[in-house]
Amino acid sequence: MHSAVVIGAGVVGSTIAATLAARGHAVTVLDAGEPGSAVSEASFAWVNAHHGKRPVSYRELNRRGLRVHHRWHREGRAPWFFPTGALTVAGDRGGGEKLRAELESAAETGEQLTELSGAQLRRRFPDLGPDVDHASFNPDEGWVDTRRLIAHQLAAASGAEVRTSCPVTRVLPRPGGDGVEVHTADGGVHEFDSVVVAAGNGSAPLLHSLAPTPLLTTGSADAKIGMTLETEPLDVAPPTVFKSPDVSIRPAPGGRAVIADHATAANFRHDDPDLWTLPRTLLARAATIMPALASARIARVRVSERVMPVDGLPVVGRVAPGVLTVLTHSGVTLAPLLSELVADGLDADTPPGLVDYRPDRF
Ligand SMILES: Cc1cc2nc3c(=O)[nH]c(=O)nc-3n(C[C@H](O)[C@H](O)[C@H](O)COP(=O)(O)OP(=O)(O)OC[C@H]3O[C@@H](n4cnc5c(N)ncnc54)[C@H](O)[C@@H]3O)c2cc1C
Repeated sequence: MHSAVVIGAGVVGSTIAATLAARGHAVTVLDAGEPGSAVSEASFAWVNAHHGKRPVSYRELNRRGLRVHHRWHREGRAPWFFPTGALTVAGDRGGGEKLRAELESAAETGEQLTELSGAQLRRRFPDLGPDVDHASFNPDEGWVDTRRLIAHQLAAASGAEVRTSCPVTRVLPRPGGDGVEVHTADGGVHEFDSVVVAAGNGSAPLLHSLAPTPLLTTGSADAKIGMTLETEPLDVAPPTVFKSPDVSIRPAPGGRAVIADHATAANFRHDDPDLWTLPRTLLARAATIMPALASARIARVRVSERVMPVDGLPVVGRVAPGVLTVLTHSGVTLAPLLSELVADGLDADTPPGLVDYRPDRF
């Protein structure tokens, strides 16, 4: 039986592990900490192929990603996916123009996007604030409970050995393509036929000796952080994903909401004390979309550096004999699709359809 180890049990690694196990590989998963406790835990987890994703081929990849979530959901394999749709609110600051462009592009591609204004919006979403008067609704999008996804995938990878608190220190291809050695911090040396490095920002040191140039922004001046906050249970929970130019809101398990801002937090550094003024600002912005959030109590704030390849696009493919890496932003949207493509092309230089995302493009 072919043995594969997946390094990292975030949304990306755990989904790859489950798909490889389903295809009959003997799978081991190694994680430096607890599964899902890194970037995936802080994610806004909106499953989307929004207009801002460029180039067009990358947007199409995200559309394919969305379709795999729906397929798995129909097949009963994705209890962690909530296909609630998503409402994009125009707001000010040029939001109306963006919305029009998105509606025009949807008309060309046949994507289902409905323009809603004033009374239509309030009929459909009675809890919206009075200033929300122009939006588009995409019924195909939704959100993911990442904690549940990871637990489900690791359980679905039946027979897989999952080792937590087990940092990998080195990945060493054996001469002649005869498997790969994986060294762990406890001094262990393990041999596998194939290695998938899906350790998010922790992948950089592991790939250092295998890839000639840095693949991720982590540790550089271009590294960006993001913030999400989770509320206590609400009297009125958001019924769908709400996106505006200033803030994003989505439902969360237990009648809670998760609130994020995809732009502002990126202007801060982790150690900036002003970062901690942001949760209140985000809550106030969220209340302009959904006034019931004005009295919400914040249960948790999460700040995380994004897993960001240096050109913003996924990095998927072979970096050395027997060693494949999968590093991506929008990993929640893309994990199911990438897992299938990686399983299809575990022995290939580049998994099928991912030639634009080869690690050696840098
Ligand atoms: C604020 C924010 C909002 C986001 N919003 C969205 C969104 O709306 N939609 C979307 O699709 N995406 C979104 N993303 C991106 C998405 O969350 C990430 O692309 C995804 O979570 C990355 O998952 P991952 O499994 O690659 O990494 P991680 O979740 O970081 O998992 C990597 C794992 O590897 C382990 N690890 C690290 N180093 C080692 C080592 N040496 N040995 C063993 N294990 C190791 C870690 O412990 C961790 O468990 C967002 C990200 C952020 C930060």
